[in-house]
Amino acid sequence: MKANLSEIMESIQGEGLLAGSRQVFLRFTGCNLRCEYCDTPASYEPLPWCQVAEETGKGDLWSQIQNPLSVQQIGSLIKKYSSQWISLTGGEPLLWPDFIKELGDYLKPQGYLLLLETNGTLFQQLEQCLSCLDMISMDYKLPSTAGADYARLHAQFLSVAAAKPIYIKMVIDSQIKRAELESALETITDIKPDITLILQPVTPRGNAAAPSMEQLLDFQQLCQRKIADVRIIPQIHKLMGLI
Ligand code: SF4
Repeated sequence: MKANLSEIMESIQGEGLLAGSRQVFLRFTGCNLRCEYCDTPASYEPLPWCQVAEETGKGDLWSQIQNPLSVQQIGSLIKKYSSQWISLTGGEPLLWPDFIKELGDYLKPQGYLLLLETNGTLFQQLEQCLSCLDMISMDYKLPSTAGADYARLHAQFLSVAAAKPIYIKMVIDSQIKRAELESALETITDIKPDITLILQPVTPRGNAAAPSMEQLLDFQQLCQRKIADVRIIPQIHKLMGLI
């Protein structure tokens, strides 16, 4: 089995509960959504070549491997890195559920741990590979940032994903309304009230403008009425100048 990837690299995880840990990133191509603030539009379509970073955290030196790649090729390519955590990212990695299952079966006996970074909509595909995942980073897309309401899909996804260690990440921009946040909190806490919620201020891109600190603190307070552990964490790898 093979998959199409745009990048393989090692860096510091810049988002979520594992922020600061050293990870290998496997960036899969393809996505079923088109978010306004997307910072990986180059991964939307299959690519003829996958870029492989030769130096941790730096984007200066890359080699190119022809797509698609097998799990054995990936296992061999990541041997030069020192991370235990492998981040499956994209694009949307759940467009490749059978491959992820095979990858997990191949890598986990070698001591690797798998983090799935997902947009939180493809719950049936999640069921296919859930058993090999060690942690799930689930995006919850608010309508004003995603351009559509994914609440029903997010609820179905969270119902499946709650069987694993999981946190939810919400990208916050200046347009978000309290009402849509309150609605999202209802959806989340009906299924998993003890979850950790990360509010991630958007890194400005396109029409997406960063929220003010006042907005962020107000939203955190609002979320804390329903969820005990609510954290504000920006994309720290970008603050550190890492890829
Ligand atoms: S889900 Fe992620 S990869 Fe897909 S469009 Fe949105 S931000 Fe980009």
